[in-house]
Amino acid sequence: MKDVSLGNCPICGRAALTEYSGGHLSGYEGPNALRLKDGVCLCGSCVRRLRVMYPLNCRFDEAKRELMTTDPLRELTAEEAVEANGQVVEYRESLRESCGFHNAVFLVDAMAESKEGLLQAPLVSFFGQVLYGSFFMLEEVTILSGGKETKAQVVAIDEYKYRIPLSGLKDWMRRTDPGVQVGENGYPYRLVVQGKGISVQPGDLIVKD
Ligand SMILES: [Zn+2]
Repeated sequence: MKDVSLGNCPICGRAALTEYSGGHLSGYEGPNALRLKDGVCLCGSCVRRLRVMYPLNCRFDEAKRELMTTDPLRELTAEEAVEANGQVVEYRESLRESCGFHNAVFLVDAMAESKEGLLQAPLVSFFGQVLYGSFFMLEEVTILSGGKETKAQVVAIDEYKYRIPLSGLKDWMRRTDPGVQVGENGYPYRLVVQGKGISVQPGDLIVKD
């Protein structure tokens, strides 16, 4: 059996997905390539560009202790994806304007804190979504909550799915898995900072300038 290309991305024309002889699919343009509603494949770079408009929707169901994920991009047809691509720059600009022109914005939906002993500031994990822009390790961010601005440094970035074990943050910080290096727009993450007296409510923003 030979590898089969599943066609070119309708937006940029590059090959979007390959079906390998074993039957599994792989993104030619990065791991983000996906199949749309009508079976056409979008390449990874075009998916990343459209994500700001069609964020991956992750919701933690407290009752079921389960993470629910839906992807609105997969509900588009190729024609709709091409149309969205024509609007994405304008969309991002109006989002930036409505968020006060920060370089990147993270919308918080939950927080967890781990005490690090008497002399050390606690580690604080924020769970939420990058609305636009990107967050990198060791960057300084500003936490906006209740009219207060608190500066802190990003000490770790990880996948949102680690929202499930809210306890054991300290152990998580010591694990060998380095997490991810960058949090990109349209995807849910866990951002970790270290600092005293930090508290946020769902709906608060963490911004980068
Ligand atoms: Zn493409």
